[in-house]
Amino acid sequence: ENKKPLHFLQQIIRKDLEQGTHQSIATRFPPEPNGYLHIGHAKSICLNFGLAEEFGGTCNLRFDDTNPEKENEEFVNSIKQDVEWLGFKWNGNVRYTSDYFDQLHAWAIHLIEQGLAFVCDLNAEQMREYRGTLIEAGKNSPFRDRSVAENLALFEKMRAGEFEEGACSLRAKIDMASPNINLRDPILYRIKKAHHHQTGDKWCIYPSYDFAHGQSDAIEGITHSICTLEFEDHKPLYEWFIQNLPVPAVPRQYEFARLNINYSVTSKRKLKQLVDENHVDGWNDPRMPTISGMRRRGYTPAALRDFCDRIGVTRSDGIVDVGVLEFCVRDDLDKNAPRAMCVLRPLKVTLTNYPVDQVETLSVHNHPNRDDLGDRVVPFTQTVFIEQEDFREEANKKYKRLVLGKRVRLRGAYVIEADEAVKDEAGNIVEIRARIIEGTLGKDPADGVKPKGVIHWVSATQNVDCEVRIFERLFTDEAPDAGGKNFLDSINPNNLEILTGCKAELSLGKAKLDDRFQFERQGYFCLDSKYSSADKIVFNRTIGLKDSFAK
Ligand code: ATP
Ligand code: MG
Ligand code: MG
Repeated sequence: ENKKPLHFLQQIIRKDLEQGTHQSIATRFPPEPNGYLHIGHAKSICLNFGLAEEFGGTCNLRFDDTNPEKENEEFVNSIKQDVEWLGFKWNGNVRYTSDYFDQLHAWAIHLIEQGLAFVCDLNAEQMREYRGTLIEAGKNSPFRDRSVAENLALFEKMRAGEFEEGACSLRAKIDMASPNINLRDPILYRIKKAHHHQTGDKWCIYPSYDFAHGQSDAIEGITHSICTLEFEDHKPLYEWFIQNLPVPAVPRQYEFARLNINYSVTSKRKLKQLVDENHVDGWNDPRMPTISGMRRRGYTPAALRDFCDRIGVTRSDGIVDVGVLEFCVRDDLDKNAPRAMCVLRPLKVTLTNYPVDQVETLSVHNHPNRDDLGDRVVPFTQTVFIEQEDFREEANKKYKRLVLGKRVRLRGAYVIEADEAVKDEAGNIVEIRARIIEGTLGKDPADGVKPKGVIHWVSATQNVDCEVRIFERLFTDEAPDAGGKNFLDSINPNNLEILTGCKAELSLGKAKLDDRFQFERQGYFCLDSKYSSADKIVFNRTIGLKDSFAK
């Protein structure tokens, strides 16, 4: 089955298990609850949970919640829902970095006692000045040589809320001349007088990402702490903390390349801006590259997992073509979505030789090669709707649809021949008068005159009315945020088309939120979870049948 060569993390883990470095592995997915998850996070989820599954280990879901002002419970809940929807189960309860605030605080005191941390009164701007640059060493803070006793007392005052935000911070004492800027006395704790979604008002000092992350990994017994490449330069600091603190375990950090996808942005900050400035209809807008947006649009967990599998795991950054994702979605839906018929822009066809009141119930396969998906009943009547674009008064041979005086097959029903195009005063075609060719249900015409093609249709009297939403790419630019470009400048003005008065076959009136369909010749569709209701049916087009962009 899966004959793909192992990627570098699989190789590392296999070796660690073979050599007994670890008896079993533990990974974690550590989102900050400051936004909804996007396709890039899906890669991290599939990687962390996937490795745990593959090697019989565990994967924790840990909320990295050290920035209370930007975080909230809505984001926590959406993240849990997205991980579950992708089909993964975290180990035990959800964890929060804030669960460890007491321990982290105790470890900060430990560092002070060891002479490895100090309270610094430099403000942010001064601190930047003292930090130096890539080519210039930093300078020691004038507060670096405070005594242990003074640092302990000041840190306690910080904790007790006796200083204003920004007045001072707790810093590690490492090396201001280090070529790695992360080691130039990094901040461990900042004063933030903010209410926290988990810890309430208990704390007014909060640990930095760097001080919290590795120690949380150690507390949870994480063996392989996998993050994206921008944290590579933080690794020496990660290890410095683990070496200098009495942690219960020694986790190790590994980096992989983040997922970038063209025609898209994968930054929570930018996605938040799209939401906050109403360029889209919320985080789960079907045009968004968020997991919740893709879910609402009709993408499947299987398709996203397949995508993450196909793109692989490497240590070199690249940009994945969004076509790969769309291929995976189409591939899954083609195999699994039942077929149905829906006419998006209806044109009435009256079959003059068919009895007015007759309703014939035709049985139609739900899928061309999936017998297990069964059959459905489609009513056939004297009047039907076809797509406006499926009729022409005259056309050349390439047009395989209905033409005046010519024949076409209605999918799963009869061959018909068009006799007349009825027009209104302005010359618009408003109705076609046609005939069925007798005896063509499931058979070719007896006279040997074959239909030019097969088109979809819906009974004009037995159908359900619906709205259909067609999405185009959110951005017209392949790299909307590259090279200092403002991604808002390339928002596609035509990224949503709303069609009303569409006519769906009767069976679609019973569609459920989780159902997905191929509408014959139109693409893949699902109900919109936000706008569909008991008295209004709204379908989203998940994706077209073919890659129309590449044509
Ligand atoms: P963003 O930059 O979108 O805000 P983030 O990295 O700040 O993302 P986190 O909530 O910290 O967001 O991410 C949780 C995990 O998901 C981290 O381990 C992070 O490395 C990973 N991750 C985030 N974006 C991507 C991406 N584009 N590709 C792969 N992994 C990602
Ligand atoms: Mg982050
Ligand atoms: Mg970020």
